[in-house]
Amino acid sequence: MWRAVRHGYCPRSHDPGEQMVEVLRRFDLAEVIAPFTRCPACNAMLRPVEKRDILEQLEPLTRIHYDEFRRCANCGKVYWSGSHVSKLEARLERIQGRLQ
Ligand SMILES: [Zn+2]
Repeated sequence: MWRAVRHGYCPRSHDPGEQMVEVLRRFDLAEVIAPFTRCPACNAMLRPVEKRDILEQLEPLTRIHYDEFRRCANCGKVYWSGSHVSKLEARLERIQGRLQ
């Protein structure tokens, strides 16, 4: 409800999951969802990076258990599909199921 905001939307629900569904529907974004492609810290694109190139940045257990990594093109932060990713993927599937 602010004049400077031209394409805003005020979600009706108080539930974060429901709010996401509302926003995706409102702006017709279902077809452009691209999970795990942008840096959560700065929103720049993530690019695949060789493990050997970031080995010194990894914690010992991460070095052992993971082989595929992505690095932010802007801030350089390194990401991998850790144990939390399956929970996020399940949440995303539920949301996408509600958009069809
Ligand atoms: Zn970043």
